[in-house]
Amino acid sequence: MKHLLLHYYLTNRCNSKCVFCDIWKETPKLDAKEDDVIRNLYSARKAGCSFVDFTGGEPLLHRSLPLFLSEAKKIGFITSVTTNCILFKKRISELDNLIDLLHFSIDSDQSEHHNNLRGVNCYDDVIESIEISKKYRLFPDLLFTYNDKNINEYAVASFGITKAEVKNGREIKIYVTGLGFLMSRVNVIPNNEFVKIAKKEKAKDEKAE
Ligand code: SF4
Repeated sequence: MKHLLLHYYLTNRCNSKCVFCDIWKETPKLDAKEDDVIRNLYSARKAGCSFVDFTGGEPLLHRSLPLFLSEAKKIGFITSVTTNCILFKKRISELDNLIDLLHFSIDSDQSEHHNNLRGVNCYDDVIESIEISKKYRLFPDLLFTYNDKNINEYAVASFGITKAEVKNGREIKIYVTGLGFLMSRVNVIPNNEFVKIAKKEKAKDEKAE
């Protein structure tokens, strides 16, 4: 039997302004109500869902996220949270022991490019959150969202990756969306050199021709 994944959109509020997303522009701004979320969690569990991912908008903007995670765990869900990391440092202590898997959004390994795509300066928050999460025995995945401004960069990078490298003792899993049919998961490290390596190889090939 296939596992059912519940994606729970807790809010349409967001502290990013990603160029490829319209959620942050939505009005009115809505937060899911506590009673509704808890009731829906129980119903979903009964219907066979075993995994819940809390997302948004930005789920860390919902003040009741710890309550939702705690209820979900109580009734046997595997839990995850997808976040842009801006509030991670501030809220992680409330979420300790409530999260099984973490997803951090990152759209470029170049700080300026990531910040431009996200409409706010949050690249450093992602990097800092990776470090902080280790202290809480959590191992975040990195989520890339492909769009017309980074697809060439990462298509080249993805195709160039044949195995994971570990640098500074860190190895991060990345789920690639958009091109999932080609490569649903790769391993890479923040500040990686895959793009540079791919470019270097291309330059070598061109020289040899
Ligand atoms: S962080 Fe997520 S919800 Fe917020 S603007 Fe970006 S893609 Fe949209």
